[in-house]
Amino acid sequence: MMERRVRVAVPAPFHFPLDYLVPDIEVRPGQRLLVPLGRRRVVGIAMEAPRNVATDGLNCRPVEDCLDREPLVPDDLLALCRWAAAYYHHPIGEVLAAALPASLRAVRRPGAGRPRRRSGDAEDDAMSPGSVGTSKDAPVATADQAQVLAGIEAVGTGFAVHLIEGVTGSGKTEIYLRAIDRIVERGGQALVLTPEIGLTPQLLERFRRRFGTRAQAFHSGLTERERRLAWLAARQGRCRVLIGTRSAVFVPLPELAMVVVDEEHDISFKQQDGFRYSARDTAIFRGRLARAPVLLGSATPCLESLHNAAAGRYHLWQIQARAQDRRMPAIGLIDMRGRRVRDGLSAPLLDALQQHTAAGGQALMFLNRRGFAPALLCHDCGWVLPCPGCDARMTVHRLSACMICHHCGNQAPVALRCGQCGGTGLTPVGQGTERLEQALAAEFPDLPVLRIDSDRVSRAGELDRLLDEIHSGRPAIVVGTQMLAKGHDFSRLSLVGVIDADAALFSADFRAVERMGQLLTQVAGRAGRGERPGEVLIQTHQPQHPALVRWLREGYRGLAESLLDERRAAGLPPSAHLALVRADSLRAASAEAFLREVATTLEGQQVEVMGPIPAPMERRAGRYRYQLLLRCPHRPRLQAALARAAPLWPQIEGARRLRWSLDVDPQDLF
Ligand code: ADP
Ligand code: ZN
Ligand code: ZN
Repeated sequence: MMERRVRVAVPAPFHFPLDYLVPDIEVRPGQRLLVPLGRRRVVGIAMEAPRNVATDGLNCRPVEDCLDREPLVPDDLLALCRWAAAYYHHPIGEVLAAALPASLRAVRRPGAGRPRRRSGDAEDDAMSPGSVGTSKDAPVATADQAQVLAGIEAVGTGFAVHLIEGVTGSGKTEIYLRAIDRIVERGGQALVLTPEIGLTPQLLERFRRRFGTRAQAFHSGLTERERRLAWLAARQGRCRVLIGTRSAVFVPLPELAMVVVDEEHDISFKQQDGFRYSARDTAIFRGRLARAPVLLGSATPCLESLHNAAAGRYHLWQIQARAQDRRMPAIGLIDMRGRRVRDGLSAPLLDALQQHTAAGGQALMFLNRRGFAPALLCHDCGWVLPCPGCDARMTVHRLSACMICHHCGNQAPVALRCGQCGGTGLTPVGQGTERLEQALAAEFPDLPVLRIDSDRVSRAGELDRLLDEIHSGRPAIVVGTQMLAKGHDFSRLSLVGVIDADAALFSADFRAVERMGQLLTQVAGRAGRGERPGEVLIQTHQPQHPALVRWLREGYRGLAESLLDERRAAGLPPSAHLALVRADSLRAASAEAFLREVATTLEGQQVEVMGPIPAPMERRAGRYRYQLLLRCPHRPRLQAALARAAPLWPQIEGARRLRWSLDVDPQDLF
């Protein structure tokens, strides 16, 4: 006896597609199938064409229905998901679930009947007949831009990775626009990935002006319906340029002919939970599948990309000067040692604020710590209020009159008595954005002080209002966290002050100094983009720290070169490859024991296994966190070891009673 079976990726933690019987219906790869799973019915994706096999007595359940006339997921996207599942060792069904908007993989409630629409029936067309946009008022390309564009064109229309390393304001966005314009003219589609679209509405506006409604956004700020419509518009070719955050890398684009990753160094391209993929690396593989060029752009490329460029795997294009003859800002350090400071502000910084705003400019004071103060200290005995669930301090939030743990979200009323000596001399210590805002408002009563951090802009529309105020050009002081470090183009901003540059210099994270260099360069890059020359002042207690000195003298590139040497010497990425297995549980011993078992599955495979050791923050939200670090100079060898070992881990005794995860190419070791 023969029967027809099909492999289906179902939304469940299985590493392989499951086999289902195919009744008398046509099934093609990429179609959505309604299938039983345990006691549920789920929407799965057919991964292959059905095949005839000899009946083997295994109880294989039948497909209940096929939901699509035409395959919803095209072949190249199936291939991309297969690659991602294999590379990140993540269940294929969960990868596909991440690739499809929730409403396209929903099983309608019983009674609602089965989905009536079939995707071939095009659920359009909610868009107003759109405008096509214009390149009429595009600026004449600068010589630098023209050179890069000609270089990219000369390499050809096939797969190649181009790293565009251009200082802030050098006109990289204009390069993407022009390169994509050519692609669209020739009938191709383009994918543009950007770190946080909601924070940089300007980028989307520029694409809209050039491409009209042929350019569409895809990000988490959209409603589910908007996401589905954008997804289908891309799938059906009505959208020619898709601009989106991380998950846009999985949107189908049948005519894909160019992939752009803007601010390619940004860590938000790495998903930090669940399916821990890097959208940048996935985008590169996608370009390979589509035989299309990939443009990575940044003023501060990550060390991995610089390493690949140096090895000749990427084409490197450098732009050292800003467009429109804008000069790079002058950068100075303010040595804070022994200086009197008020609320974290030194006299030279206050003087500069005075000068720049009196001359009609705007100033950005950068502090990457929200809240009022990062700790509440007992002046009598030195006790600091801890979070009950974490190895961390509670942050004082004065505006909402409470204490918040920034690691687990735990909230409590502001403590009135010391938990150790019972004294009442509790003082907030250190600087947060709320405190800085208050201090600046007192110091400059005639100027608006605009605080932009995630506490302030959680309300819809608030960020737009604040950005409008900045773009109005009136003198103002902006207090901002890293939300403001990237992408923004404020033409009246002439002064940038960095309140505290030191935290990263002592971090346990081996990437901390790289990140510091990126952040400082990006923040500094906000200054002097308009007609006013920019000035950047950095407050530090470590003016002689080699990393800071190097950055100041030779810029990010100089710092990056020295970091690459250090990483080579230490055997760290990009000179070696890492994977991190994390486990946490209410009992420290069970997390550690689980990881010890994981370590035994990796024996004899020429992969260095370090640990298990406690995570740098050992306890978070009441759970004990352990980790096992895997290192190998040879990526395929690490991949092969993981492919052999990872499927064994769910069977380890106790695995079900704790939380664990595998992170390939981890971005932080916390
Ligand atoms: P980046 O993406 O490298 O930060 P942008 O593309 O945003 O740079 O350009 C920085 C500024 O210079 C923007 O205000 C942009 O409008 C302007 N600009 C870019 N290219 C040109 C050009 N060819 N001619 C005139 N202005 C330009
Ligand atoms: Zn005390
Ligand atoms: Zn906490």
